[in-house]
Order: sequence, then structure tokens, then C-alpha cells
Amino acid sequence: MQERNTAGYVVVLLGPPGGGKGTQAVRLAKELGLEHFSTGEILREEVRQGSELGRQVKAVMESGALVSDEILGRIVRERLSSLDGKGCILDGYPRNLAQAEFLEEARNGLRLIVVNLAVPEEAIVKRLSGRRFCPRCGTVYNIYFSPPKVDEICDQCGTELQRREDDREEVIRERLRVYREVTQPVVDYYAGRPEFREIDGDGAPEVVYQRLLAAVKSLME
Ligand code: AMP
Repeated sequence: MQERNTAGYVVVLLGPPGGGKGTQAVRLAKELGLEHFSTGEILREEVRQGSELGRQVKAVMESGALVSDEILGRIVRERLSSLDGKGCILDGYPRNLAQAEFLEEARNGLRLIVVNLAVPEEAIVKRLSGRRFCPRCGTVYNIYFSPPKVDEICDQCGTELQRREDDREEVIRERLRVYREVTQPVVDYYAGRPEFREIDGDGAPEVVYQRLLAAVKSLME
């Protein structure tokens, strides 16, 4: 149900890896009629398809490091220009200050809303190490918080669940280090602006979702 005009908005969802951005973004996009652009998902799809771009980024992604700003810039600019008046959610972008500055120019008059999902680091490690996904239909589970009915099997389509390549423990540590050193400054970059809100991202997905929805709506009014 779309209660308000969300055209012309770019909703940036910030937060640590495994902080629940993806799950929340899918629901928010549906409810508000926004396009959902997950840069991680866009890149993983390129890797799955074995495209030239996918071959370029595969090893970097598997190590937990960031893909180059230049590649991300091209992806984001292209997606923003495909909106055709619709609003969107950016999930996973910007990840460093250079990307935040790039977005200022690439959004080209689209109005920015920035919400940071704050999640403590202990919670993240558990979320990432418990995360599973269905390679067939894309449903995401967590063996600790939202397990499938049958261990390691998708409730929706019966396919065996998988772990993301970058959800192994040593890679998780690297992704968190990158987050602290490179992405946290992006939160500081937006903090204090009128279009910025921080919400408590620790808790049941439904509870976090209501906080997120309220924050986004308050910024659209
Ligand atoms: P995510 O699904 O958002 O955790 O992203 C998975 C991986 O994709 C990251 O660890 C990076 O290697 C890459 N990636 C996604 N978004 C970006 C971005 N904005 N800048 C650089 N690399 C990214």
C-alpha cells in the first residue's frame, strides 16, 4: 500500500554488514513502492552469471574487501538514471566517503533520506555466521533467529540452503574491520543533517521494521 508520494526520493540505508539492511529494504521497498538497489546483490548476480564484471569482482568480494569506487559509481549512476520518476532505496551504498560525495552529484536533484541501523558488533557476528540463503528463490534465513522448518532446507521451495562465500568467520572479521574504518565515517558524514535519522537496529525484524518505517515517513513529510 502506497500512502504517500515517494517519487524523487533516494532512501539510503546505512548499517553494518549483517545488520539487517537487506531484509528491511525488501519490505520497505514493497510497502512504499520504491525500487530496491542492493549493490552487493547486483554484484553477486554478475558473479553468478560469470560476466566480465563478475570475473573482475569475485575475488575482492570473497576476501571481504570493497570493490572499486569506479565500478560502483557506474552501477549507481546507471540505476539512478533508470528510475523514471520512481523513488529508490540504496542498500549497501555509499560505503566510504568518496562514494558519499559521488552520490551528492549523481543523485541529480533526487531528495536524500538517510537512515542508519545501529547494531552492536556482538549481534552482527552471530547474525552473519547464522545467515543462510536459498540459491533458488532467494529467501534468507538465520539458523539462530529465523530458522527454516527443516534444517538447511528452504521452506518455500525445498532447496538446500547455502552460506554466502563471504560469511565465513575470517571474512566476517575483515568485513567488520572495513566497516569500522571506512564505512563508519559515512555515518558521521550524514549525522546532524536534517535528512538523517539513526534507529536501534537490534531486535526482532518486525520491531526494527516499524522503527525504520516511522523514521522514513517522518522524513518524507
Ligand atoms: P553486501 O551484500 O552489501 O554485504 O556486499 C557484499 C560485498 O559486495 C561487499 O563486501 C563488497 O565486496 C561488495 N560491495 C557491495 N557494495 C559495495 C560498495 N558500495 N562499495 C564497494 N564494494 C561493495
